Amino acid sequence: MATNKTYKVKGMHCASCASIVERAVKKVDGVEKVSINSVLEKADISFDSEKVDLGEFNKKLEPLGYSLLQEETDDEVASVASDHSMHTGAKQSKDEKLREIKAMRAGVRGAVPVAVISILIMTWEVLAQYSLVGPISDSVMGFFHHLLPILATYIFVLLGKPYLLGVYRFFRYGKANMDTLIGLGTSIAFLYSFVVSAFEEELAPYLSIQYNFYEVTIVVITFVALGKYLEAKSKLKTGDAIEKLIGLQAKVAIVVRDGKEVEVKIEEVKHGDVLVVKPGQKIPVDGVVVEGESYVDEAMITGEPIPVKKDIGQGVVAGTINTTGTFNFKATKIGSETLLFQIIKMVEEAQGSKAPIQALADKISAVFVPVVLFIAVMAFGLWMYLGTPVMGSSSALSAALTSFVAILVIACPCALGLATPTAIIVGVGKGAREGILVKDAATLETLHKADVIVMDKTGTITKGKPEITDIEMMGEMKDDEFISILAALESKSEHPIAHAIVSHAKDNEIAVKNVSEFEAIKGKGLKGSIDGVEYFAGNSKVLADLGLSYDSAVVDRGTRQGKTPVFLAKKDAVLGIVFVADQVKENAIETINELHRLKKKVIMLTGDNVNTANYIAKLAGIDEVIAEVMPDDKLSAIKALQAKGNIVVMAGDGVNDAPALAQADVGVAMGTGTDVAIESAGITLLGGDISKLVKAVKLSKMTMLGIKQNLFFAFVYNSIGIPLAAGAFYPIFGWLLPPVFAGFAMAMSSVSVVSNSLRIKAKKL
Ligand code: ADP
Ligand code: MG
Repeated sequence: MATNKTYKVKGMHCASCASIVERAVKKVDGVEKVSINSVLEKADISFDSEKVDLGEFNKKLEPLGYSLLQEETDDEVASVASDHSMHTGAKQSKDEKLREIKAMRAGVRGAVPVAVISILIMTWEVLAQYSLVGPISDSVMGFFHHLLPILATYIFVLLGKPYLLGVYRFFRYGKANMDTLIGLGTSIAFLYSFVVSAFEEELAPYLSIQYNFYEVTIVVITFVALGKYLEAKSKLKTGDAIEKLIGLQAKVAIVVRDGKEVEVKIEEVKHGDVLVVKPGQKIPVDGVVVEGESYVDEAMITGEPIPVKKDIGQGVVAGTINTTGTFNFKATKIGSETLLFQIIKMVEEAQGSKAPIQALADKISAVFVPVVLFIAVMAFGLWMYLGTPVMGSSSALSAALTSFVAILVIACPCALGLATPTAIIVGVGKGAREGILVKDAATLETLHKADVIVMDKTGTITKGKPEITDIEMMGEMKDDEFISILAALESKSEHPIAHAIVSHAKDNEIAVKNVSEFEAIKGKGLKGSIDGVEYFAGNSKVLADLGLSYDSAVVDRGTRQGKTPVFLAKKDAVLGIVFVADQVKENAIETINELHRLKKKVIMLTGDNVNTANYIAKLAGIDEVIAEVMPDDKLSAIKALQAKGNIVVMAGDGVNDAPALAQADVGVAMGTGTDVAIESAGITLLGGDISKLVKAVKLSKMTMLGIKQNLFFAFVYNSIGIPLAAGAFYPIFGWLLPPVFAGFAMAMSSVSVVSNSLRIKAKKL
């Protein structure tokens, strides 16, 4: 049976690690798909659970220096208890990370003073060469000569383990990763120096060593460790959006039991419990207000800064904060069903997903290590071969070694591996804070490339709360009776028009009759029987189906003012028309202007009357209107736009527009109210606020720019660093990269990539 599981990966440091793990697991029989995230250190594996299991994977991975650990929760629907353990699970791994970082810091603290001493000696030696300072006396020099091997050994013991293991794995299993590169470089430098200082007298006639490589070993390992420490610290910061979301969860709730208020743990809240919320308290689960009223601050979920009024019957969501009133609400969604939980899950999944742009970086880092080893050996050989006749064998050996070590050290593809995932993690997290939920990295990558944005009219451009404006009677029926019949039919429908008509009847205290044999007519309206008579309500298509005609002058007068006509008819006669009008959302016009500024074409797609649609489109500044579309044809409308070579974004209310949302390159769902169909779209805008679409596009742009900058940094640095270290510029400029600088540059490249990603967090949307 095919299963999909996520494991924690132990022992990963870098992008090349990710590709080693990925390839190793892929080779196991029964594995279908593997995806590794090097930043979150997670492996997503699809496999045949009858053929292989975790033990099998680990058997393959352990010799390579990695292992997989069972995650705390499965992908399946989790029980409330395990939801909680997932939350604490996230905490645990954070604690673990903090412990790891603390250990790294201790190591770095122990190494930095030693590195500083080595750098001082090196600097002194260089300055003395140019007679800028006096030479070091022979006895002091002698002392350092004996001290340095001890210090280098100390550094190896303190920080060298992963690198030496990398070298061991290379010789034992023929597998190399970035640790192998650092390990080979530093240990060869160390061994060379050791041989030179041990057999100084014997070698003296053949080698005139100006400086040895102990310092290189010391400083490179220290820099790399320092870089890894800084990187780990900032990587922790990239993921803090999840942390914040988890922190929104209340720990306790006040429940009314047997008429008394009792405080219980959040896990003990059950469906249907009545919960009391006092001023300033967090709302513990999702539910509906049953008593009292208040304003609730929903900024943490929707990004909307103004508190929202909550009356009886209105929904509240977990994690939001009550302001000054007191109210009671009935719990409708608990544990994993709450919106907050769904958001956390979605953000987590999105942050772990791979952006298509990463494929290139992955391909490169997979072949990187062997290629670099090859280049390093070639450079060494060339230096010896070409250098010996020119500078003599001992200088050539010194230069060849310098070049060999520097190449191994500078070539680490770390920055390359961090470029995409860190930016995605920060981008997705930033979105979540603004009420923009992104489903995966690919969506974020596509969104800003879109050239056409299609919007549903009702609920997206308009408020979705139409009101009756006119009633035109056609027969001799009385107004009240007419409304009574129409409202009776509409009371069965969920369409915003239906709500308008039903509440009109309620407001005017018109009794609603009983309906039997009710049936919705998709994209047109509905029908049903009242007192044995069959009635039809809906748009002109309903009349056309019945073969009835109507006074088009009356209809046109209404539609030209942006009103939607709703006909009520019997099988053989039109009884009348009501017009309903919906208002354009205040921020829709500004949003469409902004989208134009971002060079996007905006199209309105609606099932409503052409004239009505055109009127609203003109008000809102829409470029093109596709009206009177049947629900199924919305999908083909999107397809048609795509066939013309457009990248299409479809924004809709996510309920009846689901197929069109799925067909579009990016589906954007308006998450109105508390019932959010998060799964249905690539992007969900919480709070149903269309202006967030502009922010989402900007976020996409910003994140992709960040990734491109990161990739540029990483590539440029390697493509300049490697030839420089190999000595390609030596014949022209006399440049040869000291390994110490290589160590510094390699550490800084990762740190700068992560910092560049973190910059996205601070930017304004
Ligand atoms: P849209 O979301 O663009 O309104 P729909 O497919 O939901 O598209 O509806 C298409 C058209 O059918 C509406 O514009 C309206 O004219 C008519 N219609 C649908 N449902 C009803 C209803 N319950 N009452 C009256 N008219 C309706
Ligand atoms: Mg609709």
